[in-house]
Amino acid sequence: MNDPFPAYAPSEEHELLRATVRELAEDKIAPAAADVDEQSRYPQEALDALTGAGLHAVHIPDAYGGEGADALATVIVIEEVARVCASSSLIPAVNKLGTVPVLLSASEELKKRYLAPVARGEAMFSYALSEAGAGSDAASMKTRAVRDGDSWMLNGTKMWITNAGVSQYYTVMAVTDPDRGANGISAFVVDKDDPGVSFGALEKKLGIKGSPTRPVIFEDARIPADRMIGAEGTGFKTALATLDHTRITIAAQALGIAQGALDYAAGYVKQREQFGQPVASFEGVQFMLADMAMKLEAARQLTYHAAILSEWAMRGERQPGLTFASSAAKCFASDTAMEITTDAVQLLGGYGYVKDYPVERMMRDAKITQIYEGTNQIQRMVMARQLLKGLFSPTDLRFLRPAGPGNGPSGAKSGGLFSRPVCPIKTDYFPSFPDPVLNRC
Ligand SMILES: Cc1cc2nc3c(=O)[nH]c(=O)nc-3n(C[C@H](O)[C@H](O)[C@H](O)COP(=O)(O)OP(=O)(O)OC[C@H]3O[C@@H](n4cnc5c(N)ncnc54)[C@H](O)[C@@H]3O)c2cc1C
Repeated sequence: MNDPFPAYAPSEEHELLRATVRELAEDKIAPAAADVDEQSRYPQEALDALTGAGLHAVHIPDAYGGEGADALATVIVIEEVARVCASSSLIPAVNKLGTVPVLLSASEELKKRYLAPVARGEAMFSYALSEAGAGSDAASMKTRAVRDGDSWMLNGTKMWITNAGVSQYYTVMAVTDPDRGANGISAFVVDKDDPGVSFGALEKKLGIKGSPTRPVIFEDARIPADRMIGAEGTGFKTALATLDHTRITIAAQALGIAQGALDYAAGYVKQREQFGQPVASFEGVQFMLADMAMKLEAARQLTYHAAILSEWAMRGERQPGLTFASSAAKCFASDTAMEITTDAVQLLGGYGYVKDYPVERMMRDAKITQIYEGTNQIQRMVMARQLLKGLFSPTDLRFLRPAGPGNGPSGAKSGGLFSRPVCPIKTDYFPSFPDPVLNRC
């Protein structure tokens, strides 16, 4: 009982960061949000404001010239920007998505070369995994990389790439050995100025209209061999390990969108009068608000928990619960954001349905969080697999101890092989439990 407690509450510094980002977002990003959506234009105001304040890629370690913000601080930045403009929140979020493969698996030389310009705000970084025929089943990708002397020649098309064309750099996953399935996929850093790289037409989307989404096309694109991230054949592993960290940023985006909608609806119902009184005085409306706030807080706790696990993992602590936690956070926060934004539209009545008010934009923006970085059906698959393989036990999230010697998950010693029993699901306290799958473990 001598462990320091609590371990995962945001620190004063985190709360100060939130206040700073909130002020900047409300002053500099919110005023343009409706126009960015209406015109489907890039949120240049947001990029300028975020870069000016050093908030465009806070997660980059100081060793590479970045702010060195932890995963929780990064979540808070994305959350606060998304509260006013979901499109703009993809600036810090996608910079993290594009660079985590480099941080996790690249050589020191690649890290220095490609992270520093992002930290300085001179370049952005996108992540190119999906293809037209390979979405949920990303390992079935067709983009091919063939060795040619000191380079690799890339051919194929990546689809749905966020910030494509705006980003200077891309982490691109391509097949280097078609006979080895997922183990024949490698990751590369691609520069948009590399010969043979071009971009398809912008997608016309339901929401996040300020965030450009378009195909990235490779036609005999020659990429120097030293731009491979990690060893040949490890690209798919790196891609999935990245998502363990970055699904939490999508959860953060969802939290922000939902908070923005809840704040707006709560303010509106206090002012709007029907039957001679503010609609906020009706119990039916109050119950809706209470449910919205309750679900949002649950999503926030799950997301912050996952962010702490992510931070420990980035610092080299083995975190077997991270995959479950990041999928759970992304899935729950995005489903919650969809519900809350829909309810916010409902609370504004007819006014909620028109563009004079921001909640219809928030409802459209929320939808994508249930789809990208793996649909929520895929998140549920991931969670169930983790559970059934015994890699996650709900008790893992009950007590989070500060990182340090001997303070691994569930009190297991960190640094060595994970020492928990292979299958922590126990059903013997429930003798008639009939499930043959669980009992096999
Ligand atoms: C705006 C936008 C931005 C994006 N940004 C990026 C990006 O920057 N980089 C990138 O690489 N990708 C990006 N994506 C791609 C995104 O990650 C994929 O769209 C997503 O993973 C789903 O793939 P899909 O669209 O091919 O759907 P599909 O895989 O075809 O799925 C269709 C439906 O089937 C369901 N389904 C599929 N398999 C299963 C299963 N096994 N069990 C149950 N249900 C299943 C899905 O949940 C979905 O409902 C983006 C997409 C959009 C729309």
